[in-house]
Amino acid sequence: MCAIVGIYGNENAARLASLALFSMQHRGQEATGISSSCNGKIYTKKDRGLVSEVFTDEALSYLKGNMAIGHNRYSTAGGDSILDAQPVFAKYKLGEISIVHNGNLINKNEVRKDLIDNGAIFQTGMDTENLIHLIAKNTKDRLRDRIKEALTKTIGAYCFIVQSRSKQFVIRDRYGIRPLSLGKIKSGGYIVASETCAFDLVDAEFIRDVNPGEMLIFSEKTDEIESIQLFEPEFRPCAFEYVYFARPDSVIDGKNVYQTRQNMGRTLARNDAKKDFKADIVIPVPDSGVPAALGYASESKIPFELGIIRNHYVGRTFIEPTQEMRNIKVKMKLSPMKSLIEGKSLLVIDDSIVRGTTSKRIVKMLKDAGAKEVHFRVASPEIKFPCYYGIDTPTQEELISHRMTKDEICEYIQADSLEYLSIEDLKNSIGSDRNYALESFDGDYFVTK
Ligand code: AMP
Repeated sequence: MCAIVGIYGNENAARLASLALFSMQHRGQEATGISSSCNGKIYTKKDRGLVSEVFTDEALSYLKGNMAIGHNRYSTAGGDSILDAQPVFAKYKLGEISIVHNGNLINKNEVRKDLIDNGAIFQTGMDTENLIHLIAKNTKDRLRDRIKEALTKTIGAYCFIVQSRSKQFVIRDRYGIRPLSLGKIKSGGYIVASETCAFDLVDAEFIRDVNPGEMLIFSEKTDEIESIQLFEPEFRPCAFEYVYFARPDSVIDGKNVYQTRQNMGRTLARNDAKKDFKADIVIPVPDSGVPAALGYASESKIPFELGIIRNHYVGRTFIEPTQEMRNIKVKMKLSPMKSLIEGKSLLVIDDSIVRGTTSKRIVKMLKDAGAKEVHFRVASPEIKFPCYYGIDTPTQEELISHRMTKDEICEYIQADSLEYLSIEDLKNSIGSDRNYALESFDGDYFVTK
């Protein structure tokens, strides 16, 4: 998960980076940080907490310069200490360097062991620190060559932005698993960000997505952005970005996230049309099920109602690490609209079932509020495999679809019926014109380089 941003060539670089991070807060709420560069020096400010808490006016005035990189952290690798917040900063032979990373390196343990065996000292649990060491140990004269060689030893899903004292290097892995887009800021300079929703807030125009396997270089010496194709592309963007993770107003690799979610809902409705039941109302689990429920309602002509109200002052249910806290948080977060629900047959839509905590609690809540029937629909296939490419899914044992069949889950969550999208349905809903990373659904761990 996580969000990254780079701003290049704008005198308000750090401020714009903080705005971009603010609009990508959904990608990580644990910690946030920005490094700026000014007159040959890198300034870094990072802390646990939300963007609006960490980047006060005082913090931003410290971050001088016309280039900045930033990060929102959602812990997938490493721990949750402040040491694991990004950017990761270091001094080495060629000067100062700072790195932000979104994704997950699957060979990080082997690389780290090798580095430690050769005398490296690590300060954090993050795979990002490997890259710093690989760059520092390399003997090439130019940073770009050091980065290139470091990446030949790096296997996994990644988007990196490396900032030196005067340049920024932007890299997306050869599979393009995690999203990364390039835009032009109207007040000057460029932005690179995990999601295009960041462009609106800094008033930037979308130029294009960073290509899989591509390195972009921003340098003071030239107005042109340099592009080097480091690796042969084997494009496999992550399907879960469309299912859950990205903000609906983002466009990822040319596909509007909101529309893909509506398509997922429409497909669920078309699948249900073959059956002989019809619910009275369609209800989304807010907020993640809303676009799919709208799609379902418009396809099935069943009225859409906000039958569950969300309290927006509670964070995401996943954020709390223990099961007990997650249970309480679901209760604090969602309440039923009794007057809408009583005596009705409900078609309830959420984007995914992971452990089954949320869906079980929701069905009970709706039945307690007087629902006659609750038919649960999931706008994604069954999640049977953990993701090692940067989405925070739990261990395989915790995944309810790993342990139970669809019918067993239906009984467990006490729904009157339960349906998912098939993997084919999901691909067609996003767009059948390309291959996706679907490992959470099909166990195809295709990343080998
Ligand atoms: P669970 O209660 O474990 O079945 O989780 C399902 C809920 O968590 C759904 O409402 C999803 O919107 C949400 N969700 C799915 N994947 C993730 C994730 N990786 N991080 C946070 N929330 C998620």
